[in-house]
Amino acid sequence: MRIAVGGFQHETNTFAPSKATFEDFERADAWPPLTRGQGMAQVVSGINLPVAGALEYIQDQGHEILPLVWASAPPSAHVTEDAFERIVAMLLEDLKKAGRLDGVYLDLHGAMVTEHLEDGEGAILKRVRDLLGPDVPLAVSLDLHANVTPEMVDLADILEIYRTYPHVDMAATGARAAERLEALLNTEERWHKAFLQLPFLIPLTGGCTFIDPSKSLYEKIPHLIDENKLISFSFACGFSPADIYHVGASVVAYGKDSARVWKVAEEFRDAVIAREAEFAGDLFAAPDAVSKAREISAAASRPVVLADTQDNPGAGGNGDTTGLLKELVAQHAERAVVGVLCDPASAAGAHDAGVGADIRLSLGGKSGWPGVTPLEGTFKVLALSDGKTVGTGPFYKGANIDLGKTALLEISGVKVIVGSRKIQAADQSMFRTVGIEPSSMGILALKSSVHFRADFQPIAEKVLVAASPGPNPVDYEALAYRRVRPGIRLMPGSSRTS
Ligand SMILES: [Zn+2]
Repeated sequence: MRIAVGGFQHETNTFAPSKATFEDFERADAWPPLTRGQGMAQVVSGINLPVAGALEYIQDQGHEILPLVWASAPPSAHVTEDAFERIVAMLLEDLKKAGRLDGVYLDLHGAMVTEHLEDGEGAILKRVRDLLGPDVPLAVSLDLHANVTPEMVDLADILEIYRTYPHVDMAATGARAAERLEALLNTEERWHKAFLQLPFLIPLTGGCTFIDPSKSLYEKIPHLIDENKLISFSFACGFSPADIYHVGASVVAYGKDSARVWKVAEEFRDAVIAREAEFAGDLFAAPDAVSKAREISAAASRPVVLADTQDNPGAGGNGDTTGLLKELVAQHAERAVVGVLCDPASAAGAHDAGVGADIRLSLGGKSGWPGVTPLEGTFKVLALSDGKTVGTGPFYKGANIDLGKTALLEISGVKVIVGSRKIQAADQSMFRTVGIEPSSMGILALKSSVHFRADFQPIAEKVLVAASPGPNPVDYEALAYRRVRPGIRLMPGSSRTS
């Protein structure tokens, strides 16, 4: 069989400060740079990415792979029209060049919003479908944070969605989508689909599958598929900070018996609604988070982790807010380190000054978010590095992480790792680039919402989710939604609707 494989990933926080340009897709971050054609397999090989899992599966089954374009950029505000149109043009050109195809697999996110389109993936699939015609099977994997739309469900023969957050099953999901695609290639029948949307937005932290309610809901999925002889069943938590009509969580199911497919989907939706209040989770204001962390860490041998969720670069933050750092300094926290604050100018200044130097800096707070100002002061340069490392934890495993020029600085006894590229602090290797062994610290303040849990929860005494001002607000009632479909509760259990 001749199977084309490509991808185009972006998670769009429409409230975030900066857009994703073509250059952002061209550049490597924690994931590879834009890749096209025969080199793709080598570029993504061994990385926890859907496309890598799909390629491996298709190759193992002995099918012929026709590589298309694959590109991803860090989460941010809208994808520019220029970036979207150029990359989709590549995708369509590569599909045309591939000639006769038996099937197509695409690695998409599901929460892409562009300057000119609310439903990026719906538009990609429409153009791909127009080119392929109605009969060529099209399988798509999506992120657990996909804002799935009816158009995506209509246009793809199958959508497969991650079941873990931290996303340790990205490659596995790609492989599962490829396996379903292969099943479609061997049959004329097409599966019945059920698609249901949930009536409330889920905060990022509420989707974490390490803790309930998401843990037990996601654990049910394989059993639901087996017991009901479904082809596929997925639950997406949605990506809530997106002001679009179809924002939010959804259930997508496939099977041969239409009534059964709908029944299972409806029952699961109702099970999610029954646990609505639990999705809100515990959240601490920065002063409370720091004092609680100090208290716990004083009596513990393992670090307390503070998740600086509202500045998570994995959700559109720029990784440069200073609220939590200032609070650690104000409370004279001991054995505390903040990672990774993105401030290329300060990192360069530290490199120019050298290890051991004391330098005046206006650190962070440069992306212009309301309530965020730089931390002014004299910092000691403790260590320097080129910021290059390979991920060792379950989420970033094998990824070539490049933080750019990186420095370990200290102010009033609090350490801060300053990098030059925004990457969420979801892997211990990022700390080791400047000689910090995370398990030896008392408090680890991480710019991440949930992905850090894969690598840091096992070494943590306690995880506290902290709120200091940033572009990824936990309280969606504070955001000015205008386009969301009517009646959606902006927070779990809230009486405020869109
Ligand atoms: Zn995600």
